[in-house]
Amino acid sequence: MPAHLPAVLAACDRNRERDRADLFRLLAQPSISTQNVGVRECAGLVEAFLDGAGLAAQIIETPGHPMVFGERSGPPGAPTLLLYGHYDVQPPDPLDAWVSPPFEPTVRDGRVYARGAGDNKGQFFAHIAALRAWVETAGQLPVSVKVLLEGEEECGSPHVDGFVAAHRELLAADLVVTADGPAHHETRPQIEYGVRGLLYVEISARGAAHDLHSGNWGGIAPNPVWALVHLLGTVLSPAGEITVEGFHDDVRPLSPAARDAIARIPLDPGAALASVGLTRYAAPEDLGHVERLVGRPTANIAGLHGGYGGEGSKTIIPAEATAKLDFRLVPDQDPDDVYAKLLAHVRRHAPDVAVRRLGAMRPSHTALDHPLAAPLRRALATGFGAEPFDVPLVGGSLPDAVWTRTLGLPSFVVPYANHDEANHAPNENLVLDRFYAGIRTTAALVAELAADGR
Ligand SMILES: [Zn+2]
Repeated sequence: MPAHLPAVLAACDRNRERDRADLFRLLAQPSISTQNVGVRECAGLVEAFLDGAGLAAQIIETPGHPMVFGERSGPPGAPTLLLYGHYDVQPPDPLDAWVSPPFEPTVRDGRVYARGAGDNKGQFFAHIAALRAWVETAGQLPVSVKVLLEGEEECGSPHVDGFVAAHRELLAADLVVTADGPAHHETRPQIEYGVRGLLYVEISARGAAHDLHSGNWGGIAPNPVWALVHLLGTVLSPAGEITVEGFHDDVRPLSPAARDAIARIPLDPGAALASVGLTRYAAPEDLGHVERLVGRPTANIAGLHGGYGGEGSKTIIPAEATAKLDFRLVPDQDPDDVYAKLLAHVRRHAPDVAVRRLGAMRPSHTALDHPLAAPLRRALATGFGAEPFDVPLVGGSLPDAVWTRTLGLPSFVVPYANHDEANHAPNENLVLDRFYAGIRTTAALVAELAADGR
Protein backbone atom coordinates (compact mmCIF):
# COMPACT_ATOMS: atom_id res chain seq x y z
CA MET A 1 0.00 0.00 0.00
CA PRO A 2 1.35 3.49 -0.85
CA ALA A 3 3.09 5.48 1.90
CA HIS A 4 0.86 7.30 4.40
CA LEU A 5 -2.26 5.59 3.07
CA PRO A 6 -2.80 3.19 6.03
CA ALA A 7 -2.55 6.14 8.45
CA VAL A 8 -4.91 8.25 6.33
CA LEU A 9 -7.45 5.41 6.07
CA ALA A 10 -7.27 4.97 9.84
CA ALA A 11 -7.95 8.71 10.20
CA CYS A 12 -10.94 8.41 7.83
CA ASP A 13 -12.35 5.70 10.07
CA ARG A 14 -11.73 7.74 13.25
CA ASN A 15 -13.34 10.84 11.67
CA ARG A 16 -16.66 9.20 10.84
CA GLU A 17 -18.70 11.12 13.38
CA ARG A 18 -17.25 14.50 12.41
CA ASP A 19 -17.61 13.77 8.68
CA ARG A 20 -21.21 12.77 9.19
CA ALA A 21 -21.95 15.90 11.25
CA ASP A 22 -20.42 18.11 8.55
CA LEU A 23 -22.40 16.33 5.84
CA PHE A 24 -25.55 16.97 7.87
CA ARG A 25 -24.74 20.72 8.02
CA LEU A 26 -24.41 20.69 4.25
CA LEU A 27 -27.67 18.78 3.82
CA ALA A 28 -29.52 21.13 6.16
CA GLN A 29 -28.65 24.05 3.86
CA PRO A 30 -31.16 24.14 0.98
CA SER A 31 -29.65 24.89 -2.45
CA ILE A 32 -32.50 24.55 -4.94
CA SER A 33 -31.04 25.97 -8.15
CA THR A 34 -34.23 26.16 -10.23
CA GLN A 35 -36.00 28.14 -7.51
CA ASN A 36 -32.91 30.10 -6.36
CA VAL A 37 -33.41 28.98 -2.76
CA GLY A 38 -30.30 29.03 -0.57
CA VAL A 39 -27.85 28.51 -3.43
CA ARG A 40 -25.44 31.30 -2.52
CA GLU A 41 -25.49 30.38 1.18
CA CYS A 42 -24.66 26.81 0.20
CA ALA A 43 -21.80 28.00 -2.03
CA GLY A 44 -20.37 29.86 0.98
CA LEU A 45 -20.66 26.76 3.15
CA VAL A 46 -18.95 24.58 0.54
CA GLU A 47 -16.16 27.15 0.20
CA ALA A 48 -15.67 27.01 3.98
CA PHE A 49 -15.48 23.20 3.92
CA LEU A 50 -12.88 23.27 1.14
CA ASP A 51 -10.93 25.87 3.07
CA GLY A 52 -11.18 23.75 6.22
CA ALA A 53 -9.77 20.79 4.29
CA GLY A 54 -6.65 22.80 3.49
CA LEU A 55 -7.50 23.85 -0.06
CA ALA A 56 -7.30 27.40 -1.40
CA ALA A 57 -11.00 27.96 -2.03
CA GLN A 58 -12.89 30.61 -3.95
CA ILE A 59 -16.32 31.34 -5.33
CA ILE A 60 -16.26 32.13 -9.04
CA GLU A 61 -19.19 33.94 -10.59
CA THR A 62 -20.91 32.76 -13.77
CA PRO A 63 -23.92 34.28 -15.55
CA GLY A 64 -26.00 31.98 -13.30
CA HIS A 65 -25.25 30.40 -9.93
CA PRO A 66 -21.56 30.49 -8.96
CA MET A 67 -18.93 27.79 -9.13
CA VAL A 68 -17.01 26.86 -5.99
CA PHE A 69 -13.39 26.00 -6.71
CA GLY A 70 -10.60 24.75 -4.48
CA GLU A 71 -7.06 23.62 -5.14
CA ARG A 72 -3.95 22.43 -3.37
CA SER A 73 -0.64 21.60 -4.99
CA GLY A 74 1.15 18.36 -4.35
CA PRO A 75 4.86 17.67 -4.79
CA PRO A 76 6.48 19.04 -7.97
CA GLY A 77 5.86 16.77 -10.94
CA ALA A 78 2.93 14.99 -9.28
CA PRO A 79 -0.17 14.49 -11.42
CA THR A 80 -3.23 16.71 -10.99
CA LEU A 81 -6.62 15.24 -10.14
CA LEU A 82 -9.71 17.32 -10.90
CA LEU A 83 -12.79 16.37 -8.90
CA TYR A 84 -16.13 17.60 -10.23
CA GLY A 85 -19.50 17.66 -8.50
CA HIS A 86 -22.50 19.89 -7.86
CA TYR A 87 -23.83 21.52 -4.69
CA ASP A 88 -27.29 22.39 -6.01
CA VAL A 89 -30.27 20.09 -5.50
CA GLN A 90 -33.64 19.33 -7.06
CA PRO A 91 -36.80 20.83 -5.56
CA PRO A 92 -38.07 18.56 -2.76
CA ASP A 93 -41.72 18.43 -3.89
CA PRO A 94 -44.04 16.69 -3.15
CA LEU A 95 -43.28 17.55 0.48
CA ASP A 96 -45.95 15.36 2.04
CA ALA A 97 -44.35 12.25 0.52
CA TRP A 98 -41.24 12.68 2.71
CA VAL A 99 -41.11 10.61 5.91
CA SER A 100 -38.82 13.25 7.48
CA PRO A 101 -38.41 16.84 6.21
CA PRO A 102 -36.08 17.11 3.18
CA PHE A 103 -33.70 19.62 4.77
CA GLU A 104 -33.58 17.96 8.20
CA PRO A 105 -31.14 15.09 7.63
CA THR A 106 -32.36 12.03 9.51
CA VAL A 107 -30.83 8.58 9.87
CA ARG A 108 -33.00 5.49 9.52
CA ASP A 109 -31.63 1.96 9.01
CA GLY A 110 -28.11 3.13 8.25
CA ARG A 111 -29.19 5.68 5.65
CA VAL A 112 -29.29 9.44 5.84
CA TYR A 113 -32.50 10.82 4.37
CA ALA A 114 -32.37 14.37 2.96
CA ARG A 115 -32.63 16.17 -0.37
CA GLY A 116 -29.15 16.07 -1.88
CA ALA A 117 -27.95 13.15 0.29
CA GLY A 118 -26.88 11.17 -2.76
CA ASP A 119 -27.29 13.77 -5.51
CA ASN A 120 -24.75 15.13 -4.99
CA LYS A 121 -23.74 16.48 -1.56
CA GLY A 122 -22.93 13.16 0.10
CA GLN A 123 -20.82 12.13 -2.87
CA PHE A 124 -18.73 15.27 -3.34
CA PHE A 125 -18.40 15.77 0.41
CA ALA A 126 -16.76 12.34 0.53
CA HIS A 127 -13.98 13.87 -1.61
CA ILE A 128 -13.61 16.83 0.73
CA ALA A 129 -13.54 14.63 3.85
CA ALA A 130 -10.85 12.44 2.26
CA LEU A 131 -8.68 15.44 1.34
CA ARG A 132 -9.08 16.80 4.86
CA ALA A 133 -7.95 13.49 6.34
CA TRP A 134 -4.90 13.53 4.09
CA VAL A 135 -3.85 17.08 4.96
CA GLU A 136 -4.43 16.53 8.69
CA THR A 137 -2.57 13.20 8.74
CA ALA A 138 0.29 13.73 6.30
CA GLY A 139 0.46 17.54 6.26
CA GLN A 140 0.15 17.47 2.50
CA LEU A 141 -1.53 15.86 -0.49
CA PRO A 142 0.55 13.37 -2.50
CA VAL A 143 -0.79 14.77 -5.80
CA SER A 144 -2.18 18.13 -6.85
CA VAL A 145 -5.94 18.30 -6.44
CA LYS A 146 -8.55 20.67 -7.85
CA VAL A 147 -12.20 20.57 -6.89
CA LEU A 148 -14.91 22.19 -9.04
CA LEU A 149 -18.44 22.23 -7.69
CA GLU A 150 -21.17 23.80 -9.76
CA GLY A 151 -24.50 25.22 -8.68
CA GLU A 152 -26.63 24.59 -11.76
CA GLU A 153 -26.31 20.90 -12.55
CA GLU A 154 -29.96 20.32 -11.71
CA CYS A 155 -30.96 22.93 -14.32
CA GLY A 156 -28.89 21.29 -17.07
CA SER A 157 -25.47 22.90 -16.41
CA PRO A 158 -26.12 25.84 -18.78
CA HIS A 159 -22.83 27.58 -17.97
CA VAL A 160 -20.38 24.70 -17.60
CA ASP A 161 -19.33 24.68 -21.27
CA GLY A 162 -18.54 28.38 -21.28
CA PHE A 163 -16.88 28.23 -17.87
CA VAL A 164 -14.57 25.36 -18.77
CA ALA A 165 -13.65 26.86 -22.14
CA ALA A 166 -12.79 30.17 -20.40
CA HIS A 167 -10.79 28.60 -17.53
CA ARG A 168 -8.51 26.08 -19.22
CA GLU A 169 -5.49 27.12 -17.15
CA LEU A 170 -7.35 27.01 -13.87
CA LEU A 171 -8.75 23.55 -14.65
CA ALA A 172 -5.58 22.06 -16.19
CA ALA A 173 -5.32 18.47 -14.89
CA ASP A 174 -4.38 14.93 -15.81
CA LEU A 175 -7.75 13.34 -15.16
CA VAL A 176 -11.27 14.15 -14.00
CA VAL A 177 -13.20 12.05 -11.50
CA THR A 178 -16.88 12.60 -10.73
CA ALA A 179 -18.71 10.79 -7.94
CA ASP A 180 -22.34 10.99 -9.02
CA GLY A 181 -25.32 8.84 -9.87
CA PRO A 182 -26.35 5.55 -8.30
CA ALA A 183 -24.24 2.38 -8.45
CA HIS A 184 -25.88 -0.68 -10.06
CA HIS A 185 -24.69 -3.26 -7.62
CA GLU A 186 -25.07 -3.58 -3.84
CA THR A 187 -21.48 -4.44 -3.06
CA ARG A 188 -19.30 -4.10 -6.15
CA PRO A 189 -18.31 -0.56 -7.18
CA GLN A 190 -18.21 0.50 -10.81
CA ILE A 191 -16.31 2.86 -13.10
CA GLU A 192 -18.22 4.59 -15.88
CA TYR A 193 -16.14 5.65 -18.88
CA GLY A 194 -18.61 7.78 -20.74
CA VAL A 195 -22.14 8.96 -21.34
CA ARG A 196 -24.55 9.07 -24.22
CA GLY A 197 -25.22 12.46 -25.72
CA LEU A 198 -28.58 14.00 -26.45
CA LEU A 199 -30.42 15.92 -29.13
CA TYR A 200 -33.88 17.15 -28.21
CA VAL A 201 -36.25 18.58 -30.81
CA GLU A 202 -39.87 19.54 -31.18
CA ILE A 203 -41.57 19.02 -34.53
CA SER A 204 -44.89 20.57 -35.39
CA ALA A 205 -47.34 20.53 -38.26
CA ARG A 206 -50.19 22.93 -39.01
CA GLY A 207 -53.38 22.37 -40.98
CA ALA A 208 -56.34 24.71 -41.31
CA ALA A 209 -56.75 27.90 -39.28
CA HIS A 210 -58.84 25.94 -36.74
CA ASP A 211 -60.17 22.42 -36.15
CA LEU A 212 -62.59 21.36 -38.90
CA HIS A 213 -65.67 19.10 -39.17
CA SER A 214 -64.24 15.77 -40.38
CA GLY A 215 -67.31 15.16 -42.55
CA ASN A 216 -67.68 18.55 -44.17
CA TRP A 217 -63.93 18.91 -44.73
CA GLY A 218 -62.83 15.26 -44.76
CA GLY A 219 -60.90 14.51 -47.95
CA ILE A 220 -60.28 18.22 -48.52
CA ALA A 221 -58.20 19.40 -45.57
CA PRO A 222 -54.78 17.85 -44.89
CA ASN A 223 -54.48 16.42 -41.39
CA PRO A 224 -51.36 17.59 -39.46
CA VAL A 225 -51.47 14.56 -37.14
CA TRP A 226 -51.14 12.25 -40.15
CA ALA A 227 -48.33 14.48 -41.41
CA LEU A 228 -46.40 13.86 -38.18
CA VAL A 229 -47.27 10.18 -38.01
CA HIS A 230 -46.05 9.63 -41.58
CA LEU A 231 -42.90 11.60 -40.91
CA LEU A 232 -42.22 9.73 -37.66
CA GLY A 233 -42.59 6.47 -39.58
CA THR A 234 -39.63 7.52 -41.72
CA VAL A 235 -37.45 8.15 -38.65
CA LEU A 236 -37.59 4.68 -37.05
CA SER A 237 -38.53 1.43 -38.78
CA PRO A 238 -40.68 -1.23 -37.10
CA ALA A 239 -37.49 -3.32 -36.94
CA GLY A 240 -35.97 -0.67 -34.65
CA GLU A 241 -33.55 0.86 -37.16
CA ILE A 242 -33.15 4.63 -37.26
CA THR A 243 -33.68 5.57 -40.90
CA VAL A 244 -32.57 9.21 -40.94
CA GLU A 245 -30.04 9.39 -43.77
CA GLY A 246 -26.47 9.48 -42.46
CA PHE A 247 -27.56 9.16 -38.82
CA HIS A 248 -25.11 6.34 -38.07
CA ASP A 249 -22.12 7.77 -39.98
CA ASP A 250 -20.10 8.53 -36.85
CA VAL A 251 -21.26 5.70 -34.60
CA ARG A 252 -18.11 4.06 -33.30
CA PRO A 253 -18.44 0.27 -33.32
CA LEU A 254 -18.04 -1.42 -29.93
CA SER A 255 -14.43 -2.43 -29.39
CA PRO A 256 -13.54 -5.96 -28.29
CA ALA A 257 -12.57 -4.45 -24.89
CA ALA A 258 -16.01 -2.84 -24.58
CA ARG A 259 -17.74 -6.13 -25.46
CA ASP A 260 -15.61 -7.86 -22.88
CA ALA A 261 -16.46 -5.27 -20.20
CA ILE A 262 -20.17 -5.51 -21.05
CA ALA A 263 -20.07 -9.28 -20.59
CA ARG A 264 -18.61 -8.86 -17.09
CA ILE A 265 -21.20 -6.39 -15.79
CA PRO A 266 -23.16 -8.15 -13.04
CA LEU A 267 -26.73 -7.74 -14.23
CA ASP A 268 -29.84 -9.89 -14.46
CA PRO A 269 -31.63 -8.65 -17.61
CA GLY A 270 -34.90 -10.41 -16.76
CA ALA A 271 -35.00 -8.82 -13.32
CA ALA A 272 -34.13 -5.41 -14.80
CA LEU A 273 -37.05 -5.66 -17.22
CA ALA A 274 -39.39 -6.99 -14.56
CA SER A 275 -38.48 -4.13 -12.21
CA VAL A 276 -40.35 -1.75 -14.54
CA GLY A 277 -43.12 -4.16 -15.53
CA LEU A 278 -41.67 -5.24 -18.90
CA THR A 279 -41.36 -8.73 -20.33
CA ARG A 280 -39.65 -7.96 -23.63
CA TYR A 281 -37.27 -5.54 -25.31
CA ALA A 282 -37.90 -2.89 -27.92
CA ALA A 283 -37.08 -4.02 -31.48
CA PRO A 284 -34.69 -5.46 -32.42
CA GLU A 285 -35.26 -8.04 -29.70
CA ASP A 286 -32.06 -10.06 -30.17
CA LEU A 287 -29.64 -7.56 -28.61
CA GLY A 288 -27.99 -7.66 -25.19
CA HIS A 289 -29.35 -5.43 -22.42
CA VAL A 290 -26.22 -3.37 -21.86
CA GLU A 291 -25.29 -3.25 -25.54
CA ARG A 292 -28.52 -1.34 -26.14
CA LEU A 293 -27.31 1.37 -23.78
CA VAL A 294 -23.64 1.40 -24.69
CA GLY A 295 -23.48 0.74 -28.39
CA ARG A 296 -26.60 2.18 -29.95
CA PRO A 297 -28.19 5.58 -30.40
CA THR A 298 -31.94 5.92 -29.98
CA ALA A 299 -34.79 7.86 -31.57
CA ASN A 300 -37.46 8.31 -28.94
CA ILE A 301 -40.90 9.92 -29.16
CA ALA A 302 -41.19 11.62 -25.78
CA GLY A 303 -44.62 13.06 -26.56
CA LEU A 304 -47.11 13.24 -29.43
CA HIS A 305 -50.04 15.59 -29.23
CA GLY A 306 -52.82 16.67 -31.53
CA GLY A 307 -56.57 16.57 -31.86
CA TYR A 308 -59.12 15.21 -29.46
CA GLY A 309 -58.16 12.93 -26.55
CA GLY A 310 -61.10 13.39 -24.21
CA GLU A 311 -64.13 11.28 -23.30
CA GLY A 312 -66.12 9.73 -26.17
CA SER A 313 -65.77 10.82 -29.76
CA LYS A 314 -65.34 14.14 -31.48
CA THR A 315 -65.19 14.17 -35.27
CA ILE A 316 -62.60 16.77 -36.16
CA ILE A 317 -59.64 17.33 -38.40
CA PRO A 318 -57.17 18.87 -35.95
CA ALA A 319 -55.54 22.18 -36.83
CA GLU A 320 -52.16 21.29 -35.40
CA ALA A 321 -49.96 18.53 -34.04
CA THR A 322 -46.63 18.48 -32.20
CA ALA A 323 -44.17 15.83 -31.17
CA LYS A 324 -41.18 15.97 -28.86
CA LEU A 325 -38.29 13.72 -29.83
CA ASP A 326 -35.11 12.86 -28.00
CA PHE A 327 -32.18 11.17 -29.64
CA ARG A 328 -29.58 9.57 -27.37
CA LEU A 329 -26.26 9.72 -29.16
CA VAL A 330 -23.18 7.53 -28.81
CA PRO A 331 -19.51 8.29 -29.53
CA ASP A 332 -18.51 9.83 -31.93
CA GLN A 333 -21.84 11.34 -33.00
CA ASP A 334 -22.07 15.11 -32.81
CA PRO A 335 -25.43 16.70 -31.93
CA ASP A 336 -24.92 19.56 -34.42
CA ASP A 337 -24.23 17.13 -37.23
CA VAL A 338 -27.15 14.87 -36.29
CA TYR A 339 -29.44 17.91 -36.13
CA ALA A 340 -28.38 18.97 -39.64
CA LYS A 341 -29.11 15.46 -40.92
CA LEU A 342 -32.48 15.39 -39.20
CA LEU A 343 -33.39 18.78 -40.72
CA ALA A 344 -32.46 17.55 -44.18
CA HIS A 345 -34.52 14.41 -43.58
CA VAL A 346 -37.59 16.42 -42.57
CA ARG A 347 -37.17 18.77 -45.56
CA ARG A 348 -37.15 15.74 -47.85
CA HIS A 349 -40.09 13.87 -46.31
CA ALA A 350 -42.33 16.59 -44.89
CA PRO A 351 -41.22 20.05 -46.01
CA ASP A 352 -44.10 21.77 -44.20
CA VAL A 353 -43.21 20.35 -40.79
CA ALA A 354 -41.36 22.80 -38.55
CA VAL A 355 -38.41 21.65 -36.43
CA ARG A 356 -37.23 23.41 -33.31
CA ARG A 357 -34.09 22.43 -31.43
CA LEU A 358 -34.64 22.39 -27.67
CA GLY A 359 -31.38 21.02 -26.32
CA ALA A 360 -28.21 19.10 -27.01
CA MET A 361 -25.35 17.44 -25.19
CA ARG A 362 -22.33 15.77 -26.71
CA PRO A 363 -21.58 12.10 -25.99
CA SER A 364 -18.33 11.49 -24.19
CA HIS A 365 -16.02 8.58 -23.70
CA THR A 366 -12.68 7.62 -22.23
CA ALA A 367 -10.81 4.52 -23.37
CA LEU A 368 -11.30 1.47 -21.15
CA ASP A 369 -7.57 0.80 -21.25
CA HIS A 370 -6.59 4.33 -20.24
CA PRO A 371 -3.59 3.97 -17.88
CA LEU A 372 -5.19 6.21 -15.22
CA ALA A 373 -8.09 3.78 -14.83
CA ALA A 374 -5.75 1.34 -13.06
CA PRO A 375 -5.11 3.49 -9.94
CA LEU A 376 -8.83 4.25 -9.79
CA ARG A 377 -9.65 0.52 -9.85
CA ARG A 378 -7.21 -0.11 -7.00
CA ALA A 379 -8.67 2.78 -5.00
CA LEU A 380 -12.23 1.49 -5.39
CA ALA A 381 -11.14 -1.99 -4.32
CA THR A 382 -9.56 -0.47 -1.20
CA GLY A 383 -12.49 1.83 -0.46
CA PHE A 384 -15.34 -0.60 -1.00
CA GLY A 385 -13.53 -3.86 -0.26
CA ALA A 386 -14.76 -5.37 -3.53
CA GLU A 387 -13.50 -5.49 -7.10
CA PRO A 388 -14.96 -2.78 -9.35
CA PHE A 389 -16.42 -3.55 -12.78
CA ASP A 390 -16.24 -1.34 -15.87
CA VAL A 391 -19.24 0.28 -17.56
CA PRO A 392 -18.01 1.53 -20.96
CA LEU A 393 -20.85 4.05 -21.30
CA VAL A 394 -24.00 4.88 -19.37
CA GLY A 395 -27.31 5.46 -21.09
CA GLY A 396 -28.05 8.89 -19.60
CA SER A 397 -26.43 12.18 -20.49
CA LEU A 398 -24.08 14.41 -18.49
CA PRO A 399 -21.92 17.34 -19.64
CA ASP A 400 -18.92 15.01 -19.46
CA ALA A 401 -17.70 16.10 -22.92
CA VAL A 402 -16.42 19.36 -21.39
CA TRP A 403 -13.65 17.23 -19.89
CA THR A 404 -13.03 14.73 -22.68
CA ARG A 405 -13.66 16.95 -25.71
CA THR A 406 -13.12 20.55 -24.58
CA LEU A 407 -10.13 19.81 -22.31
CA GLY A 408 -9.05 16.50 -23.86
CA LEU A 409 -8.79 14.75 -20.46
CA PRO A 410 -9.73 11.23 -19.42
CA SER A 411 -12.88 11.37 -17.30
CA PHE A 412 -14.24 8.70 -14.98
CA VAL A 413 -17.54 8.63 -13.14
CA VAL A 414 -17.58 6.56 -9.94
CA PRO A 415 -20.97 6.48 -8.22
CA TYR A 416 -20.64 6.28 -4.44
CA ALA A 417 -24.43 6.37 -3.89
CA ASN A 418 -26.65 3.30 -3.52
CA HIS A 419 -28.80 2.14 -6.45
CA ASP A 420 -31.97 3.12 -4.57
CA GLU A 421 -30.81 6.61 -3.54
CA ALA A 422 -34.14 8.01 -4.84
CA ASN A 423 -32.41 11.02 -6.37
CA HIS A 424 -34.88 13.63 -7.63
CA ALA A 425 -37.63 11.81 -5.68
CA PRO A 426 -39.05 12.04 -2.15
CA ASN A 427 -37.02 10.33 0.60
CA GLU A 428 -33.70 10.72 -1.18
CA ASN A 429 -31.11 8.85 0.83
CA LEU A 430 -27.52 7.71 1.06
CA VAL A 431 -26.33 4.54 2.74
CA LEU A 432 -23.84 5.85 5.31
CA ASP A 433 -21.49 2.90 4.85
CA ARG A 434 -21.23 3.89 1.18
CA PHE A 435 -20.45 7.47 2.21
CA TYR A 436 -17.58 6.19 4.37
CA ALA A 437 -16.46 3.81 1.59
CA GLY A 438 -16.45 6.82 -0.76
CA ILE A 439 -14.22 8.78 1.63
CA ARG A 440 -11.80 5.85 1.80
CA THR A 441 -11.89 5.52 -2.00
CA THR A 442 -10.96 9.16 -2.62
CA ALA A 443 -8.26 8.92 0.07
CA ALA A 444 -6.85 5.83 -1.66
CA LEU A 445 -7.16 7.41 -5.10
CA VAL A 446 -4.78 10.28 -4.42
CA ALA A 447 -2.27 7.80 -2.96
CA GLU A 448 -2.59 5.42 -5.89
CA LEU A 449 -2.20 8.25 -8.39
CA ALA A 450 0.95 9.37 -6.60
CA ALA A 451 2.33 5.83 -6.52
CA ASP A 452 1.46 5.41 -10.19
CA GLY A 453 3.26 8.62 -11.15
CA ARG A 454 6.58 7.49 -9.66
ZN1 LIG B 1 -29.60 15.26 -10.05
